[in-house]
Amino acid sequence: MDCLFCKIIAGEIPSKKIYEDELCYAFYDIEPQAPVHFLVIPKEHISGANKISEENCGTIGHMFAVIAKVAKELGCGNDFRVVTNCGPMAGQAVAHLHFHVLAGRNLSWPPG
Ligand code: 5GP
Ligand code: ZN
Repeated sequence: MDCLFCKIIAGEIPSKKIYEDELCYAFYDIEPQAPVHFLVIPKEHISGANKISEENCGTIGHMFAVIAKVAKELGCGNDFRVVTNCGPMAGQAVAHLHFHVLAGRNLSWPPG
């Protein structure tokens, strides 16, 4: 499968890894939108948030636990934003589920 994030997980494309376990992989976004901007992705190829199901939602819950742990380790305290874009109208560019974690500046709402 020609998937950028599957290739990053496989180490075929380099990335700045922050955390990895059997279920997920966390790495810095190549084009950061905040002082802290990392992505958390499942190792299983799930194309987007619309494909989260009863079968794979255990992995998703685990990923949120990882997000809280990594955000704390990176000094974000209790202030961070988690975003997932699903579909082209929402701005999804990579068709492998990813949670953006943004922190380190005031983040406006609504995002636009
Ligand atoms: P999306 O627009 O799909 O929600 O987010 C995709 C994100 O992946 C973007 O923030 C983009 O900067 C990031 N990205 C795209 N290609 C690469 C890459 O090769 N390496 C890393 N680390 N991030 C990437
Ligand atoms: Zn993939």
